[in-house]
Parts: sequence; C-alpha cells; structure tokens
Amino acid sequence: MRTDTGQIVHLADYRPTDFVLERVDLTFELDPQNTKVEARLIFHRREGVDASAPLVLDGDELMLSGLLLDQIDIPAAQYDATPDRLTIRDLPAETPFEICVTNYINPEANTQLMGLYRTNGVYCTQCEAEGFRRITYFPDRPDVLAPYTITIVAAKEGNTFLLSNGNFLGGGNYDEGRHFAAWFDPHPKPSYLFALVAGDLGLIEDTFTTMSGRDVALKIYVEHGKEPRAAYAMDALKRSMKWDEERFGREYDLDIFMIVAVSDFNMGAMENKGLNVFNDKYVLADPETATDADYANIERIIAHEYFHNWTGNRITCRDWFQLCLKEGLTVYRDQEFSSDMRSRAVKRIADVRHLKSEQFPEDGGPLAHPPRPDKYREINNFYTTTVYEKGAEITGMIATILGEDDFRKGMDLYFERHDGDAATVEDFVKCFEEASGRDLSQFFRWYIQAGTPLVSASTSYDAASSTFTLSLEQTVPATPGQSSKQALYIPLSTALILDNGQIAAPSKVEGGEYKNGVLHLTERSQTFSFSGISSRPVLSLNRGFSAPINLHLEQSAEDMVQIARHDTDMFSRWQALTTLAMPNLVKATNAVRNDAPVAFDAGFITTLIEVIGDDALEPAFRAQVLALPSESDIAREIGSSNDPDAIHQARNAAMAAIAKAGVETLTALFDAFEDKGAYSPDATSAGRRSLRNIAMSYLSFAEETPKRAADAFAAASNMTDLAHALSILTQRFPDSAEAAQALATFEARFADNALVLDKWLSIQAAIPGEGALGRIKSLTGSKHFVGTNPNRVRSLIGTFAFGNPTGFNRADGEAYRFLAEQIVSIDKRNPQLAARILTSMRSWRSLEPVRADHARAALTTIERSPALSTDVRDIVERVLK
Ligand code: ZN
Repeated sequence: MRTDTGQIVHLADYRPTDFVLERVDLTFELDPQNTKVEARLIFHRREGVDASAPLVLDGDELMLSGLLLDQIDIPAAQYDATPDRLTIRDLPAETPFEICVTNYINPEANTQLMGLYRTNGVYCTQCEAEGFRRITYFPDRPDVLAPYTITIVAAKEGNTFLLSNGNFLGGGNYDEGRHFAAWFDPHPKPSYLFALVAGDLGLIEDTFTTMSGRDVALKIYVEHGKEPRAAYAMDALKRSMKWDEERFGREYDLDIFMIVAVSDFNMGAMENKGLNVFNDKYVLADPETATDADYANIERIIAHEYFHNWTGNRITCRDWFQLCLKEGLTVYRDQEFSSDMRSRAVKRIADVRHLKSEQFPEDGGPLAHPPRPDKYREINNFYTTTVYEKGAEITGMIATILGEDDFRKGMDLYFERHDGDAATVEDFVKCFEEASGRDLSQFFRWYIQAGTPLVSASTSYDAASSTFTLSLEQTVPATPGQSSKQALYIPLSTALILDNGQIAAPSKVEGGEYKNGVLHLTERSQTFSFSGISSRPVLSLNRGFSAPINLHLEQSAEDMVQIARHDTDMFSRWQALTTLAMPNLVKATNAVRNDAPVAFDAGFITTLIEVIGDDALEPAFRAQVLALPSESDIAREIGSSNDPDAIHQARNAAMAAIAKAGVETLTALFDAFEDKGAYSPDATSAGRRSLRNIAMSYLSFAEETPKRAADAFAAASNMTDLAHALSILTQRFPDSAEAAQALATFEARFADNALVLDKWLSIQAAIPGEGALGRIKSLTGSKHFVGTNPNRVRSLIGTFAFGNPTGFNRADGEAYRFLAEQIVSIDKRNPQLAARILTSMRSWRSLEPVRADHARAALTTIERSPALSTDVRDIVERVLK
C-alpha cells in the first residue's frame, strides 16, 4: 500500500503533457501471482516542448523488468525507475519513438481492488481514477488519449473468456495449455477507461439494432448458474440504448457491448469502453432475492454506465478536477431516464430525499467542497455526492433556466464540438451560452463555490392594488477554504395558488426575470412583484426542487395544507407535508430531552392521513408522504448539540401518534394493497408494495405484538416483502422469539447467496439501541461476514455507521472507538473502502458535547496511527480540522 506523501494537486497547475501518446499496444500473460505486462507505447514530443525534457511515466508499486527504445535496450544511465515513477531522458526531439516497458504484477495480492486483481477466480481490472499505473508505467491521466490494441494470453483452463475494450480481433491457441485473444478499440481513450476481464463465466446474449440500423451484440457475463438473474439488467440495457437515441440522439459506436458482474468491487460500476464492470449487486436480480429498490438501482446504474459512453468516454475529462463534467451530467441523464421509465414525481421526491440526507450534510460539514474542486490530496475521495448529485442538480438548473429546447441545443452542440476531446466544465457551460444566447458566467459559481445556499423569503399582499410581493435574500454559508461567497444565479420555480386551488396568472411581474413559471434570482436580495392577483395567494416556491437550496419561508400551517392539497406539482405537495412535519419533530425532540410531554399538531396528522387515504393519488407517492423526514434530516434541521437518542424517540413517537390516529386508514391500505398474482418489478407494482409495507411499519407502532409482521414474513412471496417484514420484526420487536426465528429462517434459506446475506447483515446492523454494538461485533465473527469483500463490509460496518444513529452514537463513545479500529484495519488492505466508511463521522461536530468529545478522541486515534493511506489520512485530517 502507498502511504501518504502529503502532496496536494492544484487545478491551477494543469498543463498538457510534454509527449503525445499516439498508440498503445499491451500484451498480458496472465498468471494469478505473476502476470507479465508488456506495454508498447508510441510517443512524439509535443510541438514547442524543449528537446531536453524527459518522458515521465506514472507507476504505483511497480517494478521495472525491461525497457526498450525502438526495440533496443535503454542503458541504465538514461532512465530512473522507482515504484511510482519512470523517467527516461534523451529521447528523440522530432520523430515518433516506441517505448516498450515490461513488468510483472501480482493480481492475487492486490487487495485494494485497483489495477488488475482477482475476484472469485476471475481476473478483473479497475482503473479509474489512477489504477492503470498499478498495471504498467504510463502517462496515467485523463487527457492522454490513444487507440489501444490488447493481447491477452492465459491458461485455457479457468479462462474461457478473455475480454477487453473495443472490437474482437481474433484469437486461438497459443502454446501448451494456453490460448489468446486480441482486441482493438479504435476510439481514442484515456487509461482510466481500459479494462480486462478473464475467467470462466456464464453468459447471456442479446442484440440491439441502433437507429442507423447497425446490430450490436450485447453480452452480460455473470457467475455460472446466475444467468437467469441477469435478464432484468439486459432489458434495462436495451431500454437505455433506445432512450439515449430518442432523447439525446446518441447512438452506440462499437459492434459489441459487454457487462461483467464481479463480486469484489469498490464502487457501484465502471463505464470502461465497451466493457462495463459491475458490482454484481447491480446486475443480479430475481423476485426471490432482490427488492424493488434493487431492481430500480439496477435499471439506474445500467443506464448510468451506458450513458457514460457519450458523456465520459466519447467526451472525457481534461483532468480529475473536471470529474463532475462526466458524473454530474451522467447522473442527470440517468435521473431523466428513470423518470421516463417510472413516475417522474416519485423519482424526484426520492432523489431530493437522497440529496438532502447525503449531499446537504456533506456540504454543511468539514468535507464540503465545490462540485468542481480546485485542489485535492487524494482523488479517490472526490467521488462524492457533491460531485455526483449536486453536479446533477446543476445540470438540471441549466435545463430549467434555458428551457427544454435550448437545453437540447446546448447538448447537441456539446456532443458535436467536443466529441473526442478531454473537456472542461467551462467548455460544457459555453455550449449552453452559445445555444441560448444567455450569459451563464454568474451561474458558473455553482461549480466553484461549496455550501448549500439559504434563500429567505418574505411575502406581502396588497388587496387594493391586487399585487403580491415576494422578497428574496440569498446567502451561501462559509465552507472550508471559502470564507466569503458571491451571489448565485438561482432558478426558482414558483406558483401562486388561489383560494379555489387554481394557479394565478399574473398580468405583470417586476423586479427580475420571470418566465415559464421560473423566477431568476440573481441578486443577494431581490424583490419581485406580481400584479393582477385578485385574492391573497399561497406561495409555492422552489417547486420540483428547481434549485438545491435551503428555503426559509414563514408560512402558516393553513397555507402549507393548501399546497399539500392543491398544488399541481406533486413534488411540492410532498414538500409541504414534509415542511409541516419538521417543526413537529423538532419540538418533540426538545420535549424528549426536557422530559416534557410529547405532543403533535392535530392538523398535521389529519392532513397526512387524509392524503395517504386519497385513492386518486398514486400509491408510491403516498408511501413517500408517509416516510417522515429521517433521523439525520431532523438532526440537520436542529443543527447543533444533537442527541440522536432523543431524535429517535421523538420520531418514533410521531409514528405512534400517526398510527393511533390513522389506524383505520393504515389497516385499509395494508389490506387493499396485498400483492396478488405474479411479482412484477414495474414502478406501479413496486409503489403498491411500498405503500402496504410502510403502512405495516406504522401499524407496528399501534400494536403490541409482532404478529402482523411475523405473518407477513411467513406469507411473503418476494424479497421486498420478506426483507421489510424482517426489518420490522427486528427493529420493533428485537427481543421477540419471532424476530430471532425469522432471522434464522432467512439465514438458512439464503445461506448460499452472498447478496441476500448482505441484507441479513445490514438489517441487523440497523437495529437501534444499546444492543447494536454487541450485535455488530458478534456478526464480524459470522461465517457470512467476509472482511475482504467490500459489499459485506459496507453491509455490516457501513450500515452501522451510516444507518444506525442510536446504536452508533451511543453516549459512551464505544462505537466510535470500534469504528476507529475497523478503519485502521480495513485501511491496510483497502484504503478506498476505509476512507469511504470513515466519512460517516463527518457530522461529529453537530453532536452534543459528550458524544462529540468521544468522536474527536476516536478520530484522533486514527490520525495518530502509523502508515495510514493517503485516502484515510486525507479524510481524517479534514474531518478533524
Ligand atoms: Zn458515473
């Protein structure tokens, strides 16, 4: 493992390489412990570069074993080779030359899962962001693009398939017991998009005919025996390919598109050119083993990686600071895809919930950074929800400001102008400026300023002049390294709702741009007046969450109820109910802390029950309404000196009060939405299940015994219902015989299915309360917990740290100390995984002082432990700062 060097990379230091890479030709002789890599690289010196400038190649834990220049040995005096750098001097000034590097690597010893590694007997690579340099010495940066020819030689036994990027050139027998395959990828690409897979795998195949009539072979490789479970992924892939043609005019560009599912993977999936590698959890699904959420994730991630073919691969990033250029845009695209495949309103609600519970805390804490950062110490730590999800929100705001047509024109221009380029965020935004004629220079600040803006709104209505006035003020909080901020360009979708439920059409709007229902807030404070409003309207602001902001607006409960009942934007109806719930939850938390009686506003509860009982509304929407703000949402709202136990108790009390008042409605929902007939993963069926299941969660607060959940567990005919019943049993009745029995049944039934056992681990890791830590510790000794597998570690340790606020934040600090030990030990084999789980400590400063002290002490132990990776050192130091 590489330990920290403390070096910081700055955007301002960017400059192109001295040498241009023309072609790459790699030969791999695969061996589990001793793989030979031969890289033939053709370079020429970039015009204007000094003839004495050396060629400097990146490495990571490499050992050079041979080095040729134009097929002749390079004398030792002409180069320096260290594990992380190869420097070659005295190279030709003008003519192209070939460097041939030979080195050996050990895939089996590669526990970081970066570079070439082994997973379940399969050879597999992961190169983004800087993994290629663990394979061979190379200019390992995204602005070095070249066509690749790959030859793979391996034992026939155990390696039926030898796969790489591009189109298959040919293959055949090699020498004794070995065979080979050759691939050529004509599309110039950076090294992070390289992939190689070799092994014995099962395969499902299909074809897709593109809009210009070309047939593309589609192949999904999975472990033998799991082929039927890849059918949904294949279907999602074909729908993604079609959608990208129809919505963005993007056609696939090779003869073959392959997906390989592997069981050891640090992230969700990877968009390698023509050969996507997936965490198997985002490929494999059948009704018995996958939940509705699993199906939705598979659809989304298959689409995401496929969409990268244009936004990421054909147009890549100039440097890693531009990561949100490909990620923010591609998340925007996959969100649009899911919205078209499913319910747009429900998708938006789910995405905003996720944004608020993950990105907002990041943006408001010590790890806050702009979507386009200007410095980093470890790029792996910048695959964040800010780069991805806030990046997607920014793209969405461009679409809102420009409107559909100009947005599409800008995208077309981007594809046309930058195809084949390694581009910047500036290049991207410029296309929208040109397509629309709008100046987006102020808007650009979204990319370079961190922090969630706060917009405060106040309103008045003057009946005499039929004028409604809206005053807005924006502030962006200080974040690490950015103490003062400039005003942002904030598009606010706005409606004025009249008494009769109609949306007002103002005769005139003054004070700033207002177009297609969108207010353009560009000043620090700005007042808009709406004329021709015949009666006092109710303001619905930031409809559809048109901007990722915190909104402060004093609004009466009656007004919010009016929005909840009448807004034509379903997102706003959900938002109003959430806004109604929040003060109730905060008040209840304070009451719990002061040992005062906990009470809830009757109007809030009545409205909620009325909405969920409204059969005109789609079930999935009603389920979203029932899912109150999460415990971490409440903590964020309170802001400081948080007591997670009090929040938990208060939220449970709210659920109990709603259950008591709404028992009839909830029981009716539970009965009405029973799944009859065969399981289907479509959004409508999933929505029905989610409403019934959340109704059952509420009913568990109104009932003394686990009977309903135990019966549901016994009756469940799919994983969605089974896992939900199991989590109610274990969360609500943790000490019951029924819970213990269900856990044992579940474990026995799925003993040979690791992905299902992840659910068994995470359901137990999420059980709140004092018993949690003991349970986690004993589960780390379970035969189902495999410490080298990232999915297992995330399911147990990750769920505990991120998803069990009371168990993890126990007042004695024991769980923080446990996590610290785990982080240090995980770091030794897999720094990326360790650093990711450590981010669960990012909000420690907002805890009450006793817990905060324990958290700081545990973080300090990590900070002081020897030989930390750059990944963990970077996170721990920023979190403590
Ligand atoms: Zn991506």
